[in-house]
Amino acid sequence: MNVIPRDQHCISRKHISDGALKVMSRLRSQGHQAYLVGGAVRDLLLGGHPKDFDIATDATPEDVHGLFRNSRIIGRRFRIVHVRFGREIIEVTTFRGHHDNGDEDSPVKSGNHSRQSDKGLLLRDNVYGTLEEDAVRRDLSVNALYYDSGNFEVFDQVGGLSDLENRLIRVIGDPAQRYREDPVRMLRVVRFAARLGFDIENRTARAIPACAHLLGEIPPARLFDEFLKLFLSGHAAKTLEELLRYDLLGYLFDETGHILHRDDYALALVRAAMANTDQRIAQDKPVTPAFLLAALLWPVVKHTATHLENQGEPPMVAMHNAAQQTIGEACQQVSIPRRFSQPMREIWEFQLRLQRRQGKKSAELVDHRRFRAAYDFLLLREQAGEDTGGLGQWWTQFQELPMEERLQQAPTDGDKVGGRRRRRPRKRRNNAEK
Ligand code: ATP
Ligand code: MG
Repeated sequence: MNVIPRDQHCISRKHISDGALKVMSRLRSQGHQAYLVGGAVRDLLLGGHPKDFDIATDATPEDVHGLFRNSRIIGRRFRIVHVRFGREIIEVTTFRGHHDNGDEDSPVKSGNHSRQSDKGLLLRDNVYGTLEEDAVRRDLSVNALYYDSGNFEVFDQVGGLSDLENRLIRVIGDPAQRYREDPVRMLRVVRFAARLGFDIENRTARAIPACAHLLGEIPPARLFDEFLKLFLSGHAAKTLEELLRYDLLGYLFDETGHILHRDDYALALVRAAMANTDQRIAQDKPVTPAFLLAALLWPVVKHTATHLENQGEPPMVAMHNAAQQTIGEACQQVSIPRRFSQPMREIWEFQLRLQRRQGKKSAELVDHRRFRAAYDFLLLREQAGEDTGGLGQWWTQFQELPMEERLQQAPTDGDKVGGRRRRRPRKRRNNAEK
């Protein structure tokens, strides 16, 4: 174990949240060990600001829960304790030990055990152990550094510090075995590589192709959580490229994975959606998963809708049915909550409604609560190179018109409308007066 004293690293208590410091000092005062671990230590050593603080301890979840009134035990695969301070949640995990490959008679603390499926997948991992054992159970070397807020030392059991210096993502232990235990680690590898701008170490990368199919066994709900982390952390564009490079996107969105390999427009559209999302996050603007999902699945829904139209369904009906089918199929892989799938559907259906440029109808559309997202989506399609006949520009100018002028826009032939052309209102009024 490599121990780095306080004067040889840059972590300062100043950058650790009060909640995390409180939890650690309380645990220590009760005779327990308590360390800051995971992403927070990694990000502090890189000079960044961690977004959340995870703590590892030798106290059991019950011990921790007993010490903090503002806490609750969660999880089944891993039992962890959430300690709440206002809006901040500190995640406290008990050191994990070596597992016993399902041999439940092994001498572990009572009631705590791990279970593996016949394929090596870890179903439960609640065997408790020491810091040394805990370190090798973590996923990446750069995520397995521990900071002791009592004596300010950093512990490095698995070479995480030198990997941080060399900017390398390395799975701890034998990568194939670690991916078999938990295939989501492959997604974590590409996510952290993209987010930190690190390279993926050779063995870590080489084991991915043979293990990738194991992602098919991950429950859709967990993949949805992972989807959010992959694409809504401000590095979606880079993450997408890594997922494509390692051929992993198809394990989240099967059809999209296929289409992006052969359709440049679809690829440009998804890339543009990712870049826009990153930009909005960088500017502290709100982002919704619905918009990104709408983009990721647009090539699929469009393809299906065209197919249904060719079979004789009217465009709106075809789009409606295609949306239903596309979302249904996607949810088999990544369970998209209804609060996101509903807006996705509306964004798609809106694309057809936006094709009609007509005064009163158009004015109503602008006031629709989904208009903004649908209009942004239209611009995205154009950004990706789709020829919509100037539709985006028409809607941009239309929104700038005063209400009175909006209502007077010509019903069709929209390209000429621009902003200024009036529909001879006076003459009509005169006619009406007669
Ligand atoms: P972030 O900044 O995204 O929160 P993080 O490294 O803290 O990054 P978490 O998902 O919060 O990531 O996980 C906390 C820690 O738990 C990780 O740093 C890692 O040590 C460990 N961990 C998380 N997921 C796994 C996994 N699937 N297998 C092994 N260890 C894991
Ligand atoms: Mg974290």
